[in-house]
Amino acid sequence: MKLATKKEIEEIKRRLLEHYPDSVTELHYHNLYELLVAVMLSAQCTDKRVNLITPALFEKYPDIPSLANADLDDVKELIKSCSFFNNKAKNLIKMAQMVMEKYNGEIPLDEKELVKLPGVGQKTAHVVMIEYTGANLMAVDTHVFRVAHRLGLSDAKTAEGTEKDLVKKFKTDLHRIHQAMVLFGRYICTAKNPKCYTECFLTDLCKSKESFKAR
Ligand code: SF4
Repeated sequence: MKLATKKEIEEIKRRLLEHYPDSVTELHYHNLYELLVAVMLSAQCTDKRVNLITPALFEKYPDIPSLANADLDDVKELIKSCSFFNNKAKNLIKMAQMVMEKYNGEIPLDEKELVKLPGVGQKTAHVVMIEYTGANLMAVDTHVFRVAHRLGLSDAKTAEGTEKDLVKKFKTDLHRIHQAMVLFGRYICTAKNPKCYTECFLTDLCKSKESFKAR
């Protein structure tokens, strides 16, 4: 597959930022605690589903101290429609317990500290930092991965490799580009039947549109 040229990368960046000037996550949250829990739940699960689950969860467990003392079976029951709910329930409680024990009950707003929490990988930490602080970081989920490859922004086989390529190529405004690529992938450059010839505003720069011509 052909990779995008420097000029094309600049143009892709310009158009993504123009079309999604102030995009934010579609996860519902009111504070850092709710954001972290929602992002942890969203791994391998849609934002829509997470938004259905969290109101009852946050009503019962509104903060770190209550979650740290939660009953595991009760948390499992509240999040059972989410994929990997068994592990997620365990990790949510362990995360809250560690925040209580090691961070005085305050979730650390620091990428290197966040990844020390149970169930918080680099992607989760980056998404939280991007959303909450506007940090110049990239996070690669299934949408960002697909869009990056279709546009020739990366040919890396892994999410980590793709993240490195995107950071190197875009350099600045990474948090805004991340949000833009998520929305672009979710609604336009979809996995099946991407809207190449109707809604896409990057068709002329795309390296994959030929594959979707018959549709
Ligand atoms: S032309 Fe199609 S495959 Fe290419 S970026 Fe647009 S929607 Fe995605």
